[in-house]
Amino acid sequence: MADKSSPPSSDTPLFRFAPSPNGWLHLGHAFSALTAFERARAAHGRFILRMEDIDIGRTRPEYVDGIYQDLEWIGLSWEEPVRRQSECFPAYEEALQRLRQMDLLYPCFATRKEIIDTITQGGIPLDRWPRDPDGGLVYPGIYKGITEPERSSLMWEGRTFAWRLDMPKAKALAEEKNGGPISFQESGPQNLPTPNSSNHTTCPIAPERFGDVILARKDVPTSYHLAVTIDDADQGVTDVVRGQDLFAATDIHRLLQVLLDLPAPRYHHHRLIRDDTGRRLAKSARDQGIRELRQKGLSAADLRNMIGF
Ligand code: GLU
Repeated sequence: MADKSSPPSSDTPLFRFAPSPNGWLHLGHAFSALTAFERARAAHGRFILRMEDIDIGRTRPEYVDGIYQDLEWIGLSWEEPVRRQSECFPAYEEALQRLRQMDLLYPCFATRKEIIDTITQGGIPLDRWPRDPDGGLVYPGIYKGITEPERSSLMWEGRTFAWRLDMPKAKALAEEKNGGPISFQESGPQNLPTPNSSNHTTCPIAPERFGDVILARKDVPTSYHLAVTIDDADQGVTDVVRGQDLFAATDIHRLLQVLLDLPAPRYHHHRLIRDDTGRRLAKSARDQGIRELRQKGLSAADLRNMIGF
């Protein structure tokens, strides 16, 4: 870590670990936190922790406490104060407002059932409909082309809606702003055919694979994609270290960075820790939970050994 006695200079790299406190941490989280922490140390950089607690319904105070206890037990330390996304809704609203002013957002009133019905009534079986990289159905565009009076009357009726990004328009505008195709710098274990001198590969983005993504909902007035993009910029994160499961999502984050004039961090998407059957660990995987391992009498060194640190 940077020498605590001297204030960090603006070119000190800043790494982060950003767990969601909606369950107990498991070995996969330990691997992710340690990867970020050790890469920060190797780069003489700083390390911060961020609580990604926008999902107020699933966040629990005991999970927040559990994260602090587990990470301390592993031997990590981080700068205070710890940012909590639930305290940053005004920053997300400001970004949404800017995107709305660029005419890139539209309210979408569709329920999941309506989406499925629209697809199947169009004669295409669900298993043939395009899926996004996370396996979700690409949004079929209902409510996208409706008139302003139609929109107003649905809002007056009190219909719940989400704000979706008009992806084709957003991508075209972002590429115009960027002066050409957009990419990001990746140093993770995949997609490394021709690493450049800093050991990063240039990865072109294809956010259109996600279709018109949701950037905010009525109950949670932001989304993972928007909050993570704003936070990384607000906090000055230079190096995003996280699991490979979020590799594709980076395309959306880069798109938003260009649209909102935010700097581009470097990325490192690490391998995922799997259980004996080859499955990714889930928050429900109790036997791999850090608390459980601790209670079984394992030491932090044992845990590090288990995941190759
Ligand atoms: N909060 C996310 C998670 O726990 C990680 C987000 C990120 O690192 O970008 O899966």
